Amino acid sequence: TPPSLIRNFCIIAHIDHGKSTLADRMLQLTGIVNDRQMREQYLDRMDIERERGITIKSQAVRLPWEVDGTTYALNMIDTPGHVDFTYEVSRSLAACEGAVLLVDAAQGIEAQTLANLYLALENDLEIIPVLNKIDLPAAQPEKYAEELASLIGGSPEDCLRVSGKTGAGVPELLDRIINRVPAPVGDPDAPARAMIFDSVYDSYRGVVTYVRMIDGKLHPREQIQMMSTRAVHELLEIGVISPEPEPTKGLSVGEVGYLITGVKDVRQSKVGDTVTTKLKPATEALKGYAEPKPMVFSGIYPIDGSDYPNLREALDKLRLSDASLVYEPETSAALGFGFRCGFLGLLHLEIITERLEREFNLSLIATSPSVIYRVTKDDGGEHIVTNPSEFPEGKIREVFEPMVKATILSPKDYVGTIMELCQSRRGSLIDMQYLGEDRVQLRYKLPLAEIVFDFFDHLKSKTQGYASLDYEDDGFAEGDLVKVDLLLQGEKVDAFSSIVHRDKAYAQGTRIATKLRELIPRQQFEVPIQAAVGARIIARETIRAIRKDVLAKCYGGDISRKRKLLEKQKEGKKRMKMVGRVEVPQEAFIAALSTE
Ligand code: GDP
Ligand code: MG
Repeated sequence: TPPSLIRNFCIIAHIDHGKSTLADRMLQLTGIVNDRQMREQYLDRMDIERERGITIKSQAVRLPWEVDGTTYALNMIDTPGHVDFTYEVSRSLAACEGAVLLVDAAQGIEAQTLANLYLALENDLEIIPVLNKIDLPAAQPEKYAEELASLIGGSPEDCLRVSGKTGAGVPELLDRIINRVPAPVGDPDAPARAMIFDSVYDSYRGVVTYVRMIDGKLHPREQIQMMSTRAVHELLEIGVISPEPEPTKGLSVGEVGYLITGVKDVRQSKVGDTVTTKLKPATEALKGYAEPKPMVFSGIYPIDGSDYPNLREALDKLRLSDASLVYEPETSAALGFGFRCGFLGLLHLEIITERLEREFNLSLIATSPSVIYRVTKDDGGEHIVTNPSEFPEGKIREVFEPMVKATILSPKDYVGTIMELCQSRRGSLIDMQYLGEDRVQLRYKLPLAEIVFDFFDHLKSKTQGYASLDYEDDGFAEGDLVKVDLLLQGEKVDAFSSIVHRDKAYAQGTRIATKLRELIPRQQFEVPIQAAVGARIIARETIRAIRKDVLAKCYGGDISRKRKLLEKQKEGKKRMKMVGRVEVPQEAFIAALSTE
């Protein structure tokens, strides 16, 4: 397809504003998926995406669309909306010339609407404003068209009104994409340059690499070269996705498609790298993407120590398809051998642990997540701490913690409540701005540790679900931070240590000690629980002893009942970990997380 007949666009929106549903209608209207094959959220192909109803991976699909007798090729990229996966969005944007900015006509502009809009503007994309869900009785398209227009310029009439559910307005949207989004430009005769915007591992086909051709052409059977590593591979297959992979005779300027080379590890086909050919290599690589940075760290341990090699293998396999997952072996006095893993956020952590347990049949303990700290000691030594139990001992000069710039959007009635919440989380207000007569944008600088765990839940419940949040990295700042340790029977349990602001240490110690008393079942002996900062004990609880003999309850002969009870007990045990002489349930290890 010549570039003049190609349009590359993505759909960006706040979570739940209807991207995937709109994508479904586009698949149907353009005829690449028929009614029989159609299922909801067609492009969310992973089980976990389908169950949770969220998009994790971006997807690229080629759609044919005819305007005035000419058939165009539209490449649509569906993107995830959750803040943990912003880096996926930014990569997709770099492969496009236009963006459909979708806004729920019953909700209006939200925090990720703005965040995504800014990303699109940074990438010089043509923005097509669209109000979605106009079929809803609560839709207020007039009101939100005004808001949208005042945000991006232009008149409210320029906002298209569609329903991804009924399909109303979607053909007009496809026409508009063709008329407004610029055709890709590139040099067809130059050495090939293709931008890798995604790379996934498929157990049947190995690594499948998604590319956007910038210059030149790539053909099957050609020797291709990765510009960052100079590694050469044979191009076994090249093609487009529409909506399943279809091999083609090549990809040329402006096209979006996939490559298969037989490499087995996504790291050999790195997102952001430039693909060229060995025969006629390009001299300059395309501008890549920023590497995804892990924001939260957690120790992952098998409940059964003999599963350690399986856990290692499972992580190695997952890493093949998720380059943002990082891990290294660590040992814990309490938990034995495991891995310290870095994640983009809590949702990412949850998804990875769920996949490890489900796809690899492992039973795991994830320790309380922690952010990364930089600690300098009086003797000048600098330590990077991702595991609270490794917080250095001795005289500490300064501790630095990661900060974020948070954007919160909310109806104006909740401004007071939100400010209170942010202040209690050590936030400082940057500015406040009205986006419409009723909608306010607050920007705060906050420590990442204060918002990454349960801030969003609190924000939602305090604003009856009306506030939305987005945040971005804002470097490190000094903080008065200390380590709180927990002791069971006088022994420090490394997996329970946490790092908190000095003013919150007492509350944190008391809270974890109380939580542990509730969560740890009574044992045959008394278990004292203590919280300490350094050598100072700041809280104390006791779990009283109990004699538990489940079998005493069954009389002699009833074998099946006895077996059932034993099995039940074993089931319960599966999620227990022996820490010294104490049986600790899995949930206890993330007890420090909640701030209730
Ligand atoms: P995404 O997170 O942006 O991909 O949003 P989804 O496409 O998953 O949609 C979120 C929810 O909104 C789902 O329950 C959809 O069924 C619903 N939804 C999406 N589009 C429409 C629409 O046009 N009208 C109505 N009434 N509901 C919609
Ligand atoms: Mg989606």
